[in-house]
Amino acid sequence: MIVALKPGVQKEKQDQLIDWLKGMGLDIHISTGEYQTILGLIGNTEKIDTELIESLDIVDSVKRVSETFKCCNRKFHPDDSVITVGEAKIGGGNFCLIAGPCSVETEEQIIEVAKSVKAAGANMLRGGAFKPRTSPYDFQGLKGEGIELLKLARKETGLPIVTEIMSVSDLPLFSDVDVLQVGARNMQNFDLLRELGHTNKPILLKRGLANTLKELLMSAEYIMASGNENVILCERGIRTFSDYLRNTLDLSAVPMLKELSHLPVIVDPSHATGIARMVPPMALSATACGADGLIIEVHNDPIHALCDGAQSLRPDEFEKLVGKINAVREAIK
Ligand code: PEP
Ligand code: MN
Repeated sequence: MIVALKPGVQKEKQDQLIDWLKGMGLDIHISTGEYQTILGLIGNTEKIDTELIESLDIVDSVKRVSETFKCCNRKFHPDDSVITVGEAKIGGGNFCLIAGPCSVETEEQIIEVAKSVKAAGANMLRGGAFKPRTSPYDFQGLKGEGIELLKLARKETGLPIVTEIMSVSDLPLFSDVDVLQVGARNMQNFDLLRELGHTNKPILLKRGLANTLKELLMSAEYIMASGNENVILCERGIRTFSDYLRNTLDLSAVPMLKELSHLPVIVDPSHATGIARMVPPMALSATACGADGLIIEVHNDPIHALCDGAQSLRPDEFEKLVGKINAVREAIK
């Protein structure tokens, strides 16, 4: 349920109303906009007398929200959420470029890639330390050591680091990571989501291979309902009957998610297509349809990459792409 307050309501009266609502066992999500404050009521609102609340002199309107996702619902928070990571911002008109290798392999590799993506204009460095691989015989990542190497790359370049967490038990290793990624395969690992909700770290939540937008939003809701509102949604392609591409990039998800939710939405054209030469056109399309950022795989030696070399851009290709992304952003301003 949403309670929109009249503009210019006294803080004391607002607090009284909030205390009264909390006394009914509800959680209150407060969104302070430029024009008015909106209270999102979370919990069992069935017994709430909407007419009574509407009759209060500080209340403008009361509406029931039918969707099951509340905290991430744009109705609860009409303005775009802006998530700040170091000097980078995502959402509300702030575009963020995350780039780096699929996996952290060596100190030389991650530092070289970090320097080149930074020089090209990236705002954050990605790199997997814990890798969810289809085959147990494939490279599984450097794990804790990979995180240490990412930190070295951050020290060298100043870029915040983004890396995937697969298990709650690894959480202590991520205490100095800037953005924790929940990969497609873990989008519905509810224990993990709930635990990440107890941290104050920005969470990059990827859409599952065969998950609907509502399911993605419900997963964001798990994190937010546990107290962490710093969630970035990521469309990374879904399983369809596409044959020549790794996945199907559902770009229409971007404007729809942004309509339904106030959270920033970014796109991963690398995992969506699986082919390096398909990455630039889809990155530009994602930019054009309103994504708040991109996460792109870049490797200094893609042919010898331990993971996802076929979809990784070389640094010079990434640099060229960034110029075009900026041109598209300018065009759609
Ligand atoms: C990744 O970003 O390295 C990754 C494994 O992505 P996804 O979870 O989208 O497959
Ligand atoms: Mn990858």
